[in-house]
Amino acid sequence: MKKLLISILALLPISAMAQYNPETLRTPVAQAAQRLEIVLPQVNGYNIYKADLHTHSIYSDGEVTPAFRVREAFFDGLDAIAITEHIEYRRIEGKMLKFVKGYTGGKALKAENTDLIRNEITESGIKADLNYPVEEAIKESKKYGVLVIPGAEITREPVKIGHFNALFTKDNNTIYDPDPLQSIRNARKQGALIQHNHPGWRRTTCAKTEFELVAYKEGLIDGIEVANGGSLYLPIIDRAREDNLFVAANTDIHPTTAEYYRLKGQLRNMTLIFAKECTLEGLKEALEAKRSLALSGGYISGDEQLLKDFFLASIKHEVIGTDKKGTRKVLVTNMYSLPLEFKTSKNANPILLQPRQSVLLNVAKDKSLNLTLTNMLCGDMVNPKVKIEVK
Ligand SMILES: [Zn+2]
Ligand SMILES: [Zn+2]
Repeated sequence: MKKLLISILALLPISAMAQYNPETLRTPVAQAAQRLEIVLPQVNGYNIYKADLHTHSIYSDGEVTPAFRVREAFFDGLDAIAITEHIEYRRIEGKMLKFVKGYTGGKALKAENTDLIRNEITESGIKADLNYPVEEAIKESKKYGVLVIPGAEITREPVKIGHFNALFTKDNNTIYDPDPLQSIRNARKQGALIQHNHPGWRRTTCAKTEFELVAYKEGLIDGIEVANGGSLYLPIIDRAREDNLFVAANTDIHPTTAEYYRLKGQLRNMTLIFAKECTLEGLKEALEAKRSLALSGGYISGDEQLLKDFFLASIKHEVIGTDKKGTRKVLVTNMYSLPLEFKTSKNANPILLQPRQSVLLNVAKDKSLNLTLTNMLCGDMVNPKVKIEVK
């Protein structure tokens, strides 16, 4: 018996050591990659889908593949992503043709008409297949469940003419025309929605140019970017309301969103679309009905009523006590994933309510809770206000 015990003890450290094998120790790197889950409320019977309506890949002047864009969108918490390569400017194409010279008898092919912003088109036309990047993204999207919106960016001289995304396109190869107005008409003819991109880029004002006056008057513009990357175009919130356009906040990302957003602890820009379902038809219907908000840099911009409805659907309030004078202690909780900021009076400091955080507010007898929503914009520096009856 003693002998047996000794042999068991002798074996113990060996078996413990056998478990410690540095070759098979799995570090936290082995944990599954996690999507950032951004949970938002239902508002007026609609779900809120998170979309980026403006991105680029190596098939124009971006630095990653369309497949990577889809994967990145998934991990960033998006439900939908538009693939919108520049039609007239495809910087990487020349390099790709140089790379494949092994297939052309050692001859490096020259890219043609990849910069039609600066050069006139020749009769050889655009030779690239502008539908391919969308097809590649759609293929990848099957693995991730992110909806790909087919699109392309009509890209002209930025100061006088500007850039316009055609969204929900059917055939990107039939959009180009030397006349930019005709290009927009061509996209619309196939049922695309037109989004006016970065309306103040490289300009000193957001006011409409002569070209834009014509395009707007012809009814060719459906939506507009209130935010593009790090630019928030405040006067555009008013224009969206006056001209009945859907609002968007997009990344227009060329490198990776990690560099510009996640590594800095920021959410990427998102167009919040209030729709019944996350399908091409569902999102298009919602944008046509102007049910969208623009989320960028912690600010949510757009229609006043939709902002109020979104705020009220995002919080919960409950009275948890009343003092002798009848003043109620009201616990206000942010139930969802976007930070909400508000003021209880004109001169008060704003309260930042992070997701799942609560704040206790005093509300005098027979008074309602009046909040100014300071991280929401329904006009140029205009915040919506809500009145909450405390029962
Ligand atoms: Zn652009
Ligand atoms: Zn762009």
